[in-house]
Amino acid sequence: MRKDNTLYVVIPCYNEEEVLKETTKRLKDKISSLISKKKISSKSKVMYVNDGSKDNTWQLIKEISDKEKNFTGITLSRNRGHQNALLAGLMSAKNYADVIISMDADLQDDINAIDEMIEKYNDGCDIVYGVRSARKKDSFFKKTTAQGFYKFMKIMGVDVIYNHADYRLTSKRVLENFSDFKEVNLFLRGMFPLIGYKTDIVYYERAERFAGESKYPLKKMLNFAWDGITSFSVKPIRMILNLGIIMFLISLLMLIYFLIVKVTGHAVKGWTFIVTSIWMLSGVQMLSLGIIGEYIGKIYSETKARPRYIISENLEEVENDSKN
Ligand code: UDP
Ligand code: MG
Repeated sequence: MRKDNTLYVVIPCYNEEEVLKETTKRLKDKISSLISKKKISSKSKVMYVNDGSKDNTWQLIKEISDKEKNFTGITLSRNRGHQNALLAGLMSAKNYADVIISMDADLQDDINAIDEMIEKYNDGCDIVYGVRSARKKDSFFKKTTAQGFYKFMKIMGVDVIYNHADYRLTSKRVLENFSDFKEVNLFLRGMFPLIGYKTDIVYYERAERFAGESKYPLKKMLNFAWDGITSFSVKPIRMILNLGIIMFLISLLMLIYFLIVKVTGHAVKGWTFIVTSIWMLSGVQMLSLGIIGEYIGKIYSETKARPRYIISENLEEVENDSKN
């Protein structure tokens, strides 16, 4: 079916000098074996993206790309974070490749899943998500926070693929469509499902970080989750609106109670007026905030200017092509 595909493996690197040599060694074997099995073209490459590292990462990437035919790199002017670095890599790689796989530098994503991903691509999938089947090697803390993250995202109305990070295969056309997504607050794993096409999942076991330490401390992870929610969901705004409605309804019930207290003569003079005002006004205020929030939510999705649709096939074009 789809033969002679050029594969680019995009890897963002931030202070990864400790792992790069080993990553290069293993990927070199993988790429050569795929080339010799004629699964990918000999022009296939690994593209390292240096995300403004403070150590020798970029120096190392340059050395590797000089020495190795199937390795190349780009560097960002400063540290912009994992998601931006990954996007930079994907957008550059799509100019040279037919298929692009993104993964981390630390060998936590099992590179043997690449074979299966390409298999699925050959079966006609445009996006193949790598999903962690087990987290045996993750620390208890990482495991619970990461799983909590996916569950919380679901509750907050963000459609993410459970236990899928950024290990994924995409076709060139997906990335071309992707360049129409102009948003600045990136949460890539939530954006790809918006594109559509035929997709599939490949399971793999997540290994331990090969060397060095996680570049995602808890603070960065919380920021990332917050970005995911606020870039994908208006649920928090709806929660305010719902709270307003509930408070207003309660204030009506309270009103009845206050009147009973007054009628039975248990109320101090002026008390009924004050408590009724507090409950009703707070309810109305919260409700108004929610309504204003709804409009802000609309403005927010308009300013993101996401594409409204993506055409996957156009028979008109096919006919014209065959006539020419
Ligand atoms: N990374 C990056 N820029 C950053 C932070 C991380 O490019 O500001 C890269 C990092 O080099 C690695 C990937 O993002 O290739 C994932 O980071 P890490 O493995 O530390 O995250 P974890 O697996 O602990 O969630
Ligand atoms: Mg990692």
